[in-house]
Amino acid sequence: MLAPDPLASALRARQQRALAKALAWGLQGDVQPLGTMAYAVPSRTEPGRSYRVARTRRAGAEHLICDCPAGLAGVPCVHTAAVYIHRLEQRTGGTVTAVRPA
Ligand SMILES: [Zn+2]
Repeated sequence: MLAPDPLASALRARQQRALAKALAWGLQGDVQPLGTMAYAVPSRTEPGRSYRVARTRRAGAEHLICDCPAGLAGVPCVHTAAVYIHRLEQRTGGTVTAVRPA
């Protein structure tokens, strides 16, 4: 059996925290589509500013990238989390009410 990858575990924990924050703030309701492959998501720290989240593919799976400082550093951010929740709600017609703890 492989030992747990500490980097992958840390990334998963950050993704979970970003999802929980985005959900707590209702940020998924502020997601604005920019065409079919990108979204604008308002900054939580700089009023009037939005970040761009783009849909890409990585290792054959859909992947979201953001142009905020965290996103540019490759760290999961609340903007990609908000788009993830927004797209899930659009696809299912449901409402996300909770995020499973990391
Ligand atoms: Zn971001």
